[in-house]
Amino acid sequence: MSDPVHEHDRPLSGPALRVKALESLLTEKGLVDPKALDELIDTYETKVGPRNGARIVARAWVDPAYRQRLLADATAAIAEFGFIGRQGEDMVVLENTPKVRNMVVCTLCSCYPWPVLGLPPVWYKSAPYRSRAVIDPRGVLKELGNEIPEDVEVRVWDSTAELRYLVLPERPAGTEGWSEDELAAIVTRDAMIGVAQVTAPAESRR
Ligand code: FE
Repeated sequence: MSDPVHEHDRPLSGPALRVKALESLLTEKGLVDPKALDELIDTYETKVGPRNGARIVARAWVDPAYRQRLLADATAAIAEFGFIGRQGEDMVVLENTPKVRNMVVCTLCSCYPWPVLGLPPVWYKSAPYRSRAVIDPRGVLKELGNEIPEDVEVRVWDSTAELRYLVLPERPAGTEGWSEDELAAIVTRDAMIGVAQVTAPAESRR
């Protein structure tokens, strides 16, 4: 958990307060071990977060054979990294091209590929995103600062309990010769959900 001293620097939000209260109550009643809770949170924040997905994307960018395996059988190709587990049993990777952009939503609830992206962001679970991503994907993308040219097709994929999607974004120009680690560092969670593109920071272009 974060530094308890600094937590006092700012008031907790409503939901954070409720979580704290619940955690205290469960601990007091002996129903949860705070250490186990910390481990669980750490797992989803650092071990199975979007850094996992970023490594998959970077590998696909530098290794054409891996990219092919990933597009043919994503679950198996992702498992090569050991990224397996709940909500990642049946993965499909969607490849962005200059003419096609893929965007992922779960209209029913919040299905999301946990082993490669961690826990879904709040907006992904929100009713407006879930409904509008299907009705007006271009409008949603534009609001997110990602305007799609008219001649580029936008494909929206509705996640289900059976299928989880990961978007393989386009490798940005100016990253020729970058190492896999350097590439992984610029791949964002939002790009792998399909609502943003990966860009190479200007100052790091070589
Ligand atoms: Fe869902």
